[in-house]
Amino acid sequence: MGLADIVASVKSGAVKAADLTEVRLAAIAAREGDIHAFNHVMADEARASAAAVDEAVARGDDPGPLAGVTVALKDNMCTRGVPTTCSSKILEGWLPPYDGTVVAALKASGAVAVGKTNLDEFAMGSSTENSAFGPTRNPHDTNRVPGGSSGGSAAAVAAGFSDFSLGSDTGGSIRQPAALCGVVGVKPTYGYVSRYGLVAFASSLDQIGPFTNTVEDAALVLDVIGGHDPRDSTSIPQQHPSLVAALQQGVGGLRIGRITDLPEGADPDVQERLEAAFDTLKAQGATIVDVQVPAFSFGLTAYYLIAPAEASSNLARYDGVRYGMRVEATDTNAMYGATREAGFGDEVKRRIMLGTYALSAGYYDAYYGKALKVRRLIHDDFERAYQHADVLLTPTSPSVAFEFGSKGDNPLAMYLCDTYTIPTNLAGHPGMSVPFGTGAHGLPVGVQVLAGTLQEPVMFRVAAALERSLA
Ligand code: GLN
Repeated sequence: MGLADIVASVKSGAVKAADLTEVRLAAIAAREGDIHAFNHVMADEARASAAAVDEAVARGDDPGPLAGVTVALKDNMCTRGVPTTCSSKILEGWLPPYDGTVVAALKASGAVAVGKTNLDEFAMGSSTENSAFGPTRNPHDTNRVPGGSSGGSAAAVAAGFSDFSLGSDTGGSIRQPAALCGVVGVKPTYGYVSRYGLVAFASSLDQIGPFTNTVEDAALVLDVIGGHDPRDSTSIPQQHPSLVAALQQGVGGLRIGRITDLPEGADPDVQERLEAAFDTLKAQGATIVDVQVPAFSFGLTAYYLIAPAEASSNLARYDGVRYGMRVEATDTNAMYGATREAGFGDEVKRRIMLGTYALSAGYYDAYYGKALKVRRLIHDDFERAYQHADVLLTPTSPSVAFEFGSKGDNPLAMYLCDTYTIPTNLAGHPGMSVPFGTGAHGLPVGVQVLAGTLQEPVMFRVAAALERSLA
């Protein structure tokens, strides 16, 4: 059942939110042991929220646009009084004193939060293997990764643990796990959704977005969580048009761009599905046009200077004083060092060192400054491409879900998972992954739809057309 149908039946009283919540909690009880999508299941809180929705319906009050819909939240979003760990030991025991804006918006809309989902520590990774609490498993094949860093959120939807979930995407962390788990995943335009209460990784790139079963569900969720928030100075100060309304239009007359100088590296099964996507859009009346985005291939390099630089600054706050764990030592400096040594995992330490180096005197211009220039080129190349094409189509991930440990000891191999997703974050543009059939081993393949700033409506139209063609 789609979210709109769930909400309609809860509002009419035909179905109780309490019963829907029990169905999800039962699904979690049955399979969470194998999947490990959650760091924390919020069973009591979920039952209380569902009861409140049912009471509102009984009183004749409006229970909200997501009444009775269950949601799983990536564990880097602040939830008042509920553990928020970022899958890091350094935040163990920390209870946020406030709800993030998206969390508050979901509560106000009648959604029922069932838990906090697992991620790569501080959202750094592409497989969820970097979690301090053990990896999440892909519901399609538990020997394989769900992708990352929002692997728990993607797996929660794919396993039926919740009706939808939220993730964060700094370089691909919504779109890549969505592709690997066979669900829809959207990274909106930078500033579309408030980041207030999202634990910062790389602030100029981080963006919150949904994982859903359908394109329409994603539109509905973004209509609820999108919009201006005075608490986030980077949030765009305007109302966004309804995306649900945009879905009704077809793709006739749209120009779909094929990037002719896209970096190579996608597996043949993934490439085949991308070609099928072009074919079906053409058959539905769209025109396929060739475009170039020459700086696309420098995205990964620029990202691995900019994101670690911002992370090294953002993560300086975990000092054993203000949040979570502390390792006692002889003096304050030793306590900082001991806490950070014990609290952070290897990948986080690697990023902090890379970022500190890139920002240090004498290297700043050569590395960080240069990366910012490349970022500008990528943005400008995309803008030029969007003068000729309404959207661009690429693979989301170069491969289907891979096996645990297959990239674990090679950071560069892991970084290459995000070749096709990262440039969009650097440009600030929206992108989404739509499940589009299967590839090797019968595993899901995602196609990525990219669009220009605030062009979510046209991006959703194309995604809906791809989805419809499979129905
Ligand atoms: N996999 C990329 C990284 O490790 C992107 C992560 C993300 O989008 N949060 O940085």
